[in-house]
Amino acid sequence: MAIYNKTRKIYGDKKLNKKCIAMLSGGLDSILAIKLMQEQGVEVQAVNFSIDFCACIMQNGENVATKAARMLGVPIKVIDITEEYVGLLKNPRHGYGANINPCIDCKIFMLKKAKAMMPEVDASFIITGEVLGERPMSQRMDALNIITRDAGLKGLLLRPLSAKLLDPTIPENEGVVDREKLLDISGRSRKPQFALAAKYGIKEYPNPAGGCLLTDPGFTNRVKDLISHDALAVDDLKLLTAGRHFRLTPTTKLAVGRDQEDNDALLAIVKDKDIVLKMKDRQGPIAVLRGTYDDDILSLGASVTAYHTKFRNEPSLKVDYWNGGSTDKKTVSVSAAAPDEVERLRL
Ligand code: SF4
Repeated sequence: MAIYNKTRKIYGDKKLNKKCIAMLSGGLDSILAIKLMQEQGVEVQAVNFSIDFCACIMQNGENVATKAARMLGVPIKVIDITEEYVGLLKNPRHGYGANINPCIDCKIFMLKKAKAMMPEVDASFIITGEVLGERPMSQRMDALNIITRDAGLKGLLLRPLSAKLLDPTIPENEGVVDREKLLDISGRSRKPQFALAAKYGIKEYPNPAGGCLLTDPGFTNRVKDLISHDALAVDDLKLLTAGRHFRLTPTTKLAVGRDQEDNDALLAIVKDKDIVLKMKDRQGPIAVLRGTYDDDILSLGASVTAYHTKFRNEPSLKVDYWNGGSTDKKTVSVSAAAPDEVERLRL
């Protein structure tokens, strides 16, 4: 009760509005949490915090949260937190999950931002689609409590899908939300969520395992490589979202497209100082060399690029290269890198 009174002071004697901010990732759990609020006549303002280097938020070129908000009929604010997020990624207070996912710090960070928006949108509390015990790191009971505490949201953070298993929040205590109509879902099985989706007629939502790039082991290795070379910056993280990656020297990397989508992505990401490589007048991937280089490093990048073509067994191959900021091409002749060298350089 002491906690309740302390938190209640945020609003003084003002009656709580029947309006909340919903953290909307676009995944099924967050969609269902909003549905449960709508069923109770609670007005919802959705918010989505997007991270540029996390390509997982996009589906057919559209932010999945925006798509979900449209389906739910709620307004949404999409806020880019990329720059600030990089700092968090380097040194998360609560550590990483199985990969380089700083889930607890990530949630605290986003919830603090949502809390700061509450007066602006006149919302009285915040909801999330978190489910007790669904995720090993950030959805254990103790983690949920830490997240609530460190985000400064004691009593004001409602998790509708598991609410009956958690302490009542202020909106429940004050009758803004009917606790009896909230749920008691827990654990990793998603059967209850799928049943609810069927009940609400929700057919489209991202694959729950699709998740965040920071939970991907391959992406994790590449991010760790950047951290160990003191090169964790937004532009370098963005480069990690496309192609195969190679560390040529401590200060130079190469990304090689795997398909047309990668090639297009690399050309969109390339910076003026980068070097773009491509087979001269023949089919082959786009490669981007980033960092310091001399003729030897350029030839190494060209030989790794040539390795990823069907011409790799020819003794001499011509590779065009040009600055990201220009179209003036030059050409270097190389033989394709040996398979063991490619493997040694690969991240
Ligand atoms: S999975 Fe990714 S986006 Fe989700 S909480 Fe963890 S780090 Fe944040």
